[in-house]
Amino acid sequence: MIKTTIKTTVAAAIILLFASASHAFFVEPAAQGNDPVDVIVIDPGHGGVDAGATGPGGLSEKEIVLGVAMGLKDALVEKLGITVLLTREDDTFVPLEERVAFASRSNADIFISIHVNAARNSKASGVETFFLSYEPTDAEAMRLAEQENRVVLPDGTVGTAPEAVINDLKNILHDLAQSVTHHESSALAEAVQVSMVRGTRRHDRGVKQAPFTVLGGASMPAVLVEVGFISNRPEAKWLGKKQAHKRIANAIAVGISEFAEMVNKRASKVKVNSDDRARR
Ligand SMILES: [Zn+2]
Repeated sequence: MIKTTIKTTVAAAIILLFASASHAFFVEPAAQGNDPVDVIVIDPGHGGVDAGATGPGGLSEKEIVLGVAMGLKDALVEKLGITVLLTREDDTFVPLEERVAFASRSNADIFISIHVNAARNSKASGVETFFLSYEPTDAEAMRLAEQENRVVLPDGTVGTAPEAVINDLKNILHDLAQSVTHHESSALAEAVQVSMVRGTRRHDRGVKQAPFTVLGGASMPAVLVEVGFISNRPEAKWLGKKQAHKRIANAIAVGISEFAEMVNKRASKVKVNSDDRARR
């Protein structure tokens, strides 16, 4: 008799489970920011005619960031088992605006752009993570944004962004200030910065905000990391090593995974809530 009751209860539970699962198919698409993380786009900065910052011994930013990006892709696929795409997989030139456009077309849930810093002060060192904002954290953040926003023309010469592109960016930034994505980008930046400092033991320069063209128009949480200074001799030497690329990649992957887990937890909570509503 007791056995039958247990059986009936289990059967009822299974039916309920299936009922709630089938409800899920009829639930409205989740609101922005409540989707689980399925696709991540990694953007290795520069490439082709645009070498980015250069350092001793012909070391270039474009090579370092490609190495880090490849390692990050492997680490994320292993950790999360999801789709990870790169804006470039070799030494080719990709225009700044095409990078986020690719992320949007790919329905990316996270966009991360990887760069290497350079400063006039050869003692400057360490890692920092940026998210997009019209109001730069300080003059240094603005200088870096200007450096990364340079438009490289097909012949390798450096130009300035057309007025229309700058106005576009201003409009995007204005709308962005209050959006969910902005808040999410700040949380992602925090997670990545903390894990990068912990994993690489480099100097912590903190999370900052600046108007980066490459992050403009991103409809998903988007950050830009500067993984070290090519203008600092000891740090440049380290950045030139494959071992360092792997270490940086693994450290960033930890931060992204923590952020993704938080988003996924919230997404499943939202799904349960809407299933409840659908039952009522
Ligand atoms: Zn760069």
